[in-house]
This record gives sequence, structure tokens and C-alpha cells, in this order.
Amino acid sequence: MPPAIGQVLFDAETIARRVRDLGRELAETYRDREPVLVAVMKGCVLFLADLVRAWEGPMDLEFITAESYEGTEPGAVHLAVPEGLADRVAGRPVLVVDDIFDTGATLATVREALLAMGAEEVRSVVLLHKHTDAAPPSSAPAGPAAPDWVGFDVADRFVVGYGLDLDGRYRNLSYVAALRKG
Ligand code: 5GP
Ligand code: MG
Repeated sequence: MPPAIGQVLFDAETIARRVRDLGRELAETYRDREPVLVAVMKGCVLFLADLVRAWEGPMDLEFITAESYEGTEPGAVHLAVPEGLADRVAGRPVLVVDDIFDTGATLATVREALLAMGAEEVRSVVLLHKHTDAAPPSSAPAGPAAPDWVGFDVADRFVVGYGLDLDGRYRNLSYVAALRKG
């Protein structure tokens, strides 16, 4: 394990089980609607790859890039939208796939952009939902842009692994872990 890595929060097997269940549930929910999955690069890549392999049914895959972090500090959200994306989402149900929901700024920005492109509907699935509250997640009020599906709830700390990075590192870890303190 790299020296900067602290506690493992979700190991590879736990993630695999949960993501497989999510994939099956989503495929069942969307059945014959053939949604466009819009993956938010780059943090979601491992989650996405496992999710779509558990997805039995028609779907289409597109990408968008969102960046907001400098190291462990959040900043303004910058979107990079590939040419032609609007044509491919217009009039279609869209499912945004992201790694982690924290303040919701990223998902809100992506959602607005997709609706402006003419998406019929925009829902979202995230691997992790970070909770800043001391209160348990289930009692927290759902914000307007709260994710529709969540893999795991996680406490308010910076996490890496399974796609999530710190300045480009640790995306390739097979588990999700907190950074070592100090
Ligand atoms: P939000 O816009 O909801 O505040 O933050 C979401 C985005 O910030 C995520 O897509 C992710 O890229 C990044 N982010 C938020 N929390 C963490 C974290 O704990 N670890 C990492 N690696 N990225 C995070
Ligand atoms: Mg992100």
C-alpha cells in the first residue's frame, strides 16, 4: 500500500458487489428506454467500467470532463464538452455517472449543461456520497441536485482510489481509502 494511504474504507470485493447490484438495478429501471450514460471524467472510469458490465440492456456511452479540485481543495467547476455531444443527448434520457458527490456543484453544472443541450431527462448515479453533517445520511435533507443512486455513503474526508485521485495519483487502486493523516 502506498505510504500516503490510510484506512481502507471500501475494499475491492465490497465495491464489486455493490456496483454489480447498482448496474442490475439501473438496467432494470431503464429497461427499453436506451439511456445515454454521460460519464464525468476522469474520476468515474473504474466505476463506469464495472457498472456497464453489470448493465444488461441497451445503453449508449458519452463523456464530459469536469474539473474543480486543486489538490484536496475544491474550486470553481470547469466543463470540457466534446463536439457533437448535444446532438447525441438531445431528446434522450440521460444518466450522469460520477465518482463522488460532495457539494453537488459538479453535478449541478453538468446537469444544467445537459438540459441546455435538450436532454429529455437527467438523472445521476455516483459511487460515493460525501456527508458533511454529523447527522446520519438518511436524515439529511435531499438537495435539488442530490444524486438519484448512490453506491456508498462516506464521511467528510478526502478519499482516493478506484478512480479517485490526488493530483493524478492513486486512481488505479482497487479500493477506496482515506489519506493518512499528518
Ligand atoms: P462537488 O462538485 O460535488 O463538490 O465535488 C464533486 C467532485 O469533486 C467529484 O467529481 C470529484 O472529482 C471531486 N471530489 C470531491 N470529493 C473528493 C474526494 O474526497 N476525493 C477525490 N479524489 N475527489 C473528490
Ligand atoms: Mg469529478
